[in-house]
Amino acid sequence: MKLQEYHAKRLLQAQGLPVSDFAVAANPTEVRSAAARFLGAGATRVVVKAQVLVGGRGKAGGVKLASTAEEAAALAAQILGMDIKGTTVRRVLVAPGAEIVAEYYLACVLDRSSRRVMFMASAEGGVEIEVVAAERPDAIKYMHAHPLLGLLDYQARALAFDIALGAHLRDFVAIAKGLFATMMANDADLVEINPLGIVRTTASDGSTSDRLECLDAKVTIDDSALPRHPELERMRDLDEEDPVDVAAREQGLSFIKLDGTIGCMVNGAGLAMTTMDLIKRAGGEPANFLDVGGGAKADKVAAAMRLILADPNVRSILVNIFGGIARGDEVARGLVEARSMQERHVPMVVRIVGTNADLAAQILATAGDPDVQTAATLDEAVDKAVAVANQVQAAGASA
Ligand code: GDP
Ligand code: MN
Repeated sequence: MKLQEYHAKRLLQAQGLPVSDFAVAANPTEVRSAAARFLGAGATRVVVKAQVLVGGRGKAGGVKLASTAEEAAALAAQILGMDIKGTTVRRVLVAPGAEIVAEYYLACVLDRSSRRVMFMASAEGGVEIEVVAAERPDAIKYMHAHPLLGLLDYQARALAFDIALGAHLRDFVAIAKGLFATMMANDADLVEINPLGIVRTTASDGSTSDRLECLDAKVTIDDSALPRHPELERMRDLDEEDPVDVAAREQGLSFIKLDGTIGCMVNGAGLAMTTMDLIKRAGGEPANFLDVGGGAKADKVAAAMRLILADPNVRSILVNIFGGIARGDEVARGLVEARSMQERHVPMVVRIVGTNADLAAQILATAGDPDVQTAATLDEAVDKAVAVANQVQAAGASA
């Protein structure tokens, strides 16, 4: 789950990381008063930032600086409601505008291949890291944290020198360790600061001092860990999630949309993957991964069917259920119920084995739907589903 910048910054603040004070606002009036507060407290400018879960907000015009509260409100009026890469801006973050001397990049991610937390750092911050990685891969430096001890001070110092931040060694070490702490405390799989800025403050006598500050923050939480972080679950932004994902989660279904034409309904992640492999081997393309889970009840099966049919590319549906805890008759009832409610009748091939498979066969036979075929083996089911999908496609092409 991706967090909005303002949520991510709160998690950083909770670990003691240097993040400026900020406010979140949903209309220009709120922006005006937040801006007035920061300007009154000594800021010379304020920054107004669109809160959307996509990168490159700056380039898209979603990050603007203002010198007065009025100007901030006017900029907010432009930014709120703006479309950034298909997402409508509903909230903005308002903060004292930093005087940035230089922009760096620092992130830690879960590196699955090394099974450790990996730090990535670069002196080329502010731009998208994918661009740096593609054009100047040497500009990104890497460091793996110790699995038990975390990022050790000497490692953090080495990373600082690697990106020419030796002048801010103490700040950098604290920030890098803070990112690791943020990751651990929240079961995050990414904590990214871009830019990590060298920020200048000018005192009334004209003297200046520089320090590191987290100017942007991106945090993603491991979805599987969310059950133990109800406070993070509440940060979920439903406005920015695909309605299909929201529906799947509400039903406890694990559903991933793919590009093919054969909808899959399977119980068990391993069986679902096997089913997809066999579809591919038979020359078909799965339209989705869907694990209805163990003990699937009729209503869950019906909900799964709706998710599959929401995809207009689906030309046939393959139901592959191994009845263990899940009962075949329950699944069959759900399928019949789901089909009775559908406007779009997509051909379906059903293979149900295990608990109450015979009852399941009876229920499907009694329903007498001409578009539903059954299969005794998985190979047979896959062949039929692929053949039907191809027929439908050919018919569609000639029509
Ligand atoms: P992103 O484009 O979505 O990654 O949004 P960022 O928060 O990274 O902002 C984009 C750019 O705006 C940064 O790289 C900075 O150059 C600039 N920016 C952001 N905050 C400030 C600020 O407080 N002061 C100044 N001068 N520039 C800022
Ligand atoms: Mn950024």
